[in-house]
Amino acid sequence: MSIDQTQLSKTSFKFFGLGGSNEVGRSCHILQYKGKTVMLDAGIHPAHQGLASLPFYDEFDLSTVDVLLISHFHLDHAASLPYVMQRTNFRGRVFMTHPTKAIYRWLLSDFVKVTSIGSNGYNDKDENLYTDEDLAESFDRIETIDFHSTIDVNGIKFTAFHAGHVLGAAMFQVEIAGLKTLFTGDYSRETDRHLNSAEVPPSSSDILIVESTFGTATHEPRINREKKLTQLIHSTVLRGGRVLLPVFALGRAQEIMLILDEFWSQHHDELGNGQVPIFYASNLARKCMSVFQTYVNMMNDDIRKKFRDSQSNPFIFKNISYLKNLDEFQDFGPSVMLASPGMLQNGLSRDLLEKWCPDEKNLVLITGYSVEGTMAKYIILEPDTLPSINNPEANIPRRCQIEEVSFAAHVDFRENLDFIEKIGAKNVILVHGESNPMGRLKSALLSNFASLKGTEDEVHVFNPRNCVVVELEFKGIKVAKAMGNIVDEVTTALGIQKEAPENALPAIEEVLKPDHDNVRGVDETVVSGILVSDEKNFDLNLVSLSDLRDYHMDLSTTVLRERQTVYIDCKKELIYWHLCQMFGDMEVIIDEEGITHSKEAPSKANSTSGDELELKIMGDVKLNIIKNIATLEWSQGIMNDTVADSVMAILLSVDSSPASVKISSRSCSHDHDHLHDHEDVWKIKQVARLCAEQFGECFSYKLSDSEPAADIMGHVTIGKNKASINLSQMKVEECNSNPLKGRIESILSIASDLVAPLC
Ligand SMILES: [Zn+2]
Ligand SMILES: [Zn+2]
Repeated sequence: MSIDQTQLSKTSFKFFGLGGSNEVGRSCHILQYKGKTVMLDAGIHPAHQGLASLPFYDEFDLSTVDVLLISHFHLDHAASLPYVMQRTNFRGRVFMTHPTKAIYRWLLSDFVKVTSIGSNGYNDKDENLYTDEDLAESFDRIETIDFHSTIDVNGIKFTAFHAGHVLGAAMFQVEIAGLKTLFTGDYSRETDRHLNSAEVPPSSSDILIVESTFGTATHEPRINREKKLTQLIHSTVLRGGRVLLPVFALGRAQEIMLILDEFWSQHHDELGNGQVPIFYASNLARKCMSVFQTYVNMMNDDIRKKFRDSQSNPFIFKNISYLKNLDEFQDFGPSVMLASPGMLQNGLSRDLLEKWCPDEKNLVLITGYSVEGTMAKYIILEPDTLPSINNPEANIPRRCQIEEVSFAAHVDFRENLDFIEKIGAKNVILVHGESNPMGRLKSALLSNFASLKGTEDEVHVFNPRNCVVVELEFKGIKVAKAMGNIVDEVTTALGIQKEAPENALPAIEEVLKPDHDNVRGVDETVVSGILVSDEKNFDLNLVSLSDLRDYHMDLSTTVLRERQTVYIDCKKELIYWHLCQMFGDMEVIIDEEGITHSKEAPSKANSTSGDELELKIMGDVKLNIIKNIATLEWSQGIMNDTVADSVMAILLSVDSSPASVKISSRSCSHDHDHLHDHEDVWKIKQVARLCAEQFGECFSYKLSDSEPAADIMGHVTIGKNKASINLSQMKVEECNSNPLKGRIESILSIASDLVAPLC
């Protein structure tokens, strides 16, 4: 059996970023290994609209993707999924965690609404990536994965781990043919008010695809940030100002609200009791609260305890009111407003920004990560004026205070480095970061791992641009599992005592060499067997030929029936006699002429020719002769092929064999008749004929009928070498050359076999 060598030797891993490489936004990465393709995330770029916000889908044939894994519900990771599923040739399976799927549904329908309303004034309806119907249709085809469970799709195994960041956010460890890649998605290593920090998967990974949002920056301690946030807000409302916190509707908004609700309770006299209201303005606020309640069990101990103790939803806040839109909002005095979207591109938060930014008492507080090219990023630069989205002609003066206190749940440099070291992957691919921070992170990582440079454990760090392939070669070392009889062979060869169940013994490390079928075990012991590669799971099993069918029932086998037909010009008796000499007794199936003298030889009932002979030779080779046509039929196999070859050789040579002459001479009358009296003369003639065939004109002899008693001599003369052969006694009498003598003796030995008494 042959192994598909091309498949086994294909060991290069490819990473291809369609988005989110050297940028934050439109995350989408392709992994390819051993003919399998995995896609990670399908986001949009928040700074762009319509098709321009998509990852570079045209640069890759999406129909080849087997599995698409969505890390979390943020738009930059999930918002182009309906487009991929409904508007491209993508045919793969899509997975995300349960909470991601639950929140994704609401978020994206809001995304469709916001982008199709055209609240930003220039959003053309034709530019919509997909409709609500697309979203609904594709939604049902999304499959869910539980944290810590592993799913296998045609040999692609993937496991979801907690990533922190936002509710439902997952890291995926993807394993293809033993090669493990960990994709962090967005992740945080800090336990916050409601989420646990990201986990370190228990098994190691060969490749790590890691976010680099904050590059080499280091977060201030959380306690300081919380203090700064509450103080900024407190002082603003005390001076009669309004606070705008642009937030993404879900995720970090809940974290900020937990902080503010607690602070308001603690400062109840000055702030609480409706004196300074906090609003959460989002189309989705109420809907998503139920989702947060449902998944409290996935959050950290603190919040679970609160939920248990109070028997109420910790996300229903005492001091915070929900606003579906601004129509319900009466803007009379100081207030705190959390409003989506977080990047101030359009919608509620943008409307409030334009309304409040001319007043110097007000504060705009950025708490999330601001993507390059968005208003949130722009405003941090404290510009004097802002372009109005509702009135493109106008520039709005900006006098309000702008502050940034990050509660973006992304790792900082120290946390990232610690995690990267814990994972221990030798190949690190940076994604989800602007070029500069990403470049700085790369340098910092390289200098951190500098001592390993040139060693086997060298860490390679990549920061590819979008659509630039990273190709990594992996050594094709494979472990083949020995199964069945071959286990005994291996254990004997290695002198191992066999105790464990058969299958557990012993793993053989095989160094793949495309031109080599042998398998090396420990101590260089060579065992031979058939290496069966399971294309689905990439398992390699080593079995002996006899076990093949037992252990690989699913292998499709082919039985080749061979048939050859030849024309023969001699009697069937003769052929039968030769076959008997060669193979002994044969099964007679049909013998209409009674040649075989077989008692049970049946006659074919419907045969009309009357001379059919059919024999079964050595079990499975069938010879059928009707008139002068001999047909040989057998199932392909080493044994049968050899038998069939021998039968064919007899069929083709039978009429010219000297022995045939003898047997056929009894039944046919021709000029050999007069030799019957002189068996010896016939014998001599056959020997002489053989010598003449070998030596041609160099051989001569004389047959004298008159002196039958005398030995008949033949002579060979080749140049100076001469030999005299006693043909009657079949021996070399004289010869001046040993090589020639040897040659003649071997001819005589063949001849003696040929002319020996036949029965
Ligand atoms: Zn995110
Ligand atoms: Zn992100």
